[in-house]
Amino acid sequence: LVHAVNVTKSFHHNEVLKGIDLDVDRGQVVCLLGPSGSGKTTFLRCINQLETIDGGRIWVDDELMGYNERDGKLYRLKNKEIAAQRREIGMVFQRFNLFPHKTTLENIVEAPTQVKRESKKVARERAMKLLDRVGLADRCNAYPAQLSGGQQQRVAIARALAMQPKLMLFDEPTSALDPELVGEVLAVMRELALDGMTMIVVTHEMSFARDVADTVVFMDAGVVVEAGPPKDVIGNPQHSRTQAFLSRLR
Ligand code: ATP
Repeated sequence: LVHAVNVTKSFHHNEVLKGIDLDVDRGQVVCLLGPSGSGKTTFLRCINQLETIDGGRIWVDDELMGYNERDGKLYRLKNKEIAAQRREIGMVFQRFNLFPHKTTLENIVEAPTQVKRESKKVARERAMKLLDRVGLADRCNAYPAQLSGGQQQRVAIARALAMQPKLMLFDEPTSALDPELVGEVLAVMRELALDGMTMIVVTHEMSFARDVADTVVFMDAGVVVEAGPPKDVIGNPQHSRTQAFLSRLR
C-alpha cells in the first residue's frame, strides 16, 4: 500500500532524511523506532504531504503523492489535489488537537460533513459506531476538557477513522499521556491492527512494537539502519546503533 523510494528532505542545510525506503503491505503494521531527531516525524509528515520532499517518490495505493509524473518529469499537484490525497490518510498526533468547543461526537462528524459533504445522519451513525469501538459511546456529548488525555486520544483516533482512511499514521500517540493512560490507547490501536488497518506508528513503546508490528524500522540520523520483524530488530539487533538505542531504553 505504501511504497517509498529514496526519500530525501532537508530543512535549510540540515539533511533530515537521507534516502529513506519503505514498503508497507496492506493490513501491515510498521513501527518506526529511533532516537529523537532521527527523522521519524518528518518522514511521517512527508507521507501525507504535510512536508514537501526534496527527492525520491512516495506512492500510497499506487498514487504518487504530491506529484504527477509525465515523461519522466514531476509536476507538483494543485493544493486541492494534494488535499484529496491527504484525506485518504488518517493521522494521529502526540497532542490530540480536538476542537475544544465541540463535543466528542461533533469533533468526529466535523470532517466527514464539512470536507466530504456527508449527510449529518450518516456521519453521526458512523461516529457513534466508532465511539463504541474506542469504548467511549457514553461520552459522546462530553467536551474534550471533560475527558482524560487517554480518552481524548481515543476520540482523536475515532475522528481520524471517520474519514475511512486507507492508511493510519500515528506519531508518538502515547508519549504525551500519563503512564496509567497509555494502555487504553495502545489497546485501541491493537484492535485496529487486528481489524486489518494498515498502520505506520512512530513509538517508543517496545512492547507494542514487539507484539503488534509486522515490521520494525530503526532509523538514526536520517537513514534506515535496520528493518525487519520485531523478533530480529528488537530481539536480536544486528547493528551497533540499534543495540545502543535499545539498551538505553531498557
Ligand atoms: P522526535 O522523536 O524528537 O520527534 P524525530 O525522529 O521524529 O524525533 P524529527 O522530528 O523528524 O525527528 O526531526 C528531525 C530533525 O529535523 C531535527 O533535527 C529537527 O530539528 C529538524 N526539523 C524538523 N522539522 C523542522 C522544521 N519544520 N524546520 C526546521 N527543522 C526541522
